[in-house]
Amino acid sequence: MTAQIIDGKQVAADMRAELKDETAKLKEKGIVPGLGVILVGEDPASKSYVTAKERACEEIGIYSDDNRLPAETSQQDLITLVKRMNADPKIHGILVQLPLPKGLNEAEVLLTIDPAKDVDGFHPMNVGKMMVGEKAFLPCTPHGIIQLLLRSSVKIEGADVVIVGRSNIVGKPLANMLIQKNPKGNATVTVCHTRTRDLAHHTRQADIVIAAAGRPNTVTADMIKDGAVVIDVGVNRVEDATKKRGYRLVGDVDFENVKEKASLITPVPGGVGPMTITMLLYNTVESAKRAHELTGED
Ligand code: NAP
Repeated sequence: MTAQIIDGKQVAADMRAELKDETAKLKEKGIVPGLGVILVGEDPASKSYVTAKERACEEIGIYSDDNRLPAETSQQDLITLVKRMNADPKIHGILVQLPLPKGLNEAEVLLTIDPAKDVDGFHPMNVGKMMVGEKAFLPCTPHGIIQLLLRSSVKIEGADVVIVGRSNIVGKPLANMLIQKNPKGNATVTVCHTRTRDLAHHTRQADIVIAAAGRPNTVTADMIKDGAVVIDVGVNRVEDATKKRGYRLVGDVDFENVKEKASLITPVPGGVGPMTITMLLYNTVESAKRAHELTGED
């Protein structure tokens, strides 16, 4: 069996088109969703993420309040800016690009964000609400993975899912979302990590394998059962002299061999990646609707 490729770029483009329609309808009601973006310092990866986010906002019709601050910015100035955004009715979502430069207290900054504007879904209030199944902003990468599965007609309900990785931004929230008692959840989930005794034993039982380890070739063809769905979250640089920049990006899955056994698989790049920013935009539009007491679905 050769797997069908889940085209994350296409799914993200479909969702962005839906969001564009939605913002146009909101504008007719006088509502413009707004995202406050804070980037501190000169980290090149962070700069390019933030630029991509700003471009995506423009494409969809989301107002974006961009703040690029020098690396020497004080904790107090940063907190003051977040508080200003908390109080600004034009801003429905606040994004503080992580990591912050050394010397700044990330946890304090994230705790200052009003949970009603926490479109990254990292505030403990939203994490707690998500865990008990209350309406909350869902973290973007795990939410994007669930959208990819649903929009590829993968049945999550009742499936045996193995997640490789237990980080606070991917593995843990994803496991939580997948065990919720609702049709987007209801899966039986196993979370593996570096202390898991026999990773392959677990992945071989799984209907859906989600790799978020941050290491190339963590999941190989012998670790997958025939017809499994494989989602590759990993983004790793491997040296490649044939490329101008000297490297190429690969996931955590041995794509070429695993695709011969799986039924559906995401590529890297072009799989999970494009969904992450899309879900940030989704949360921002959702937040604008909530602020104006328009119902949204999650
Ligand atoms: P992380 O914080 O480094 O966590 C990695 C997790 O994988 C840890 O729980 C670790 O276990 C586990 N792990 C590592 N090697 C393993 C192995 N050989 N066997 C079993 N478990 C293993 O990473 P992260 O932030 O979750 O990100 C994971 C990957 O996804 C990275 O490549 C990252 O760049 C990518 N990512 C992509 C997106 C996107 O939008 N495309 C978004 C977020 C992350 P321990 O806990 O025991 O150390």
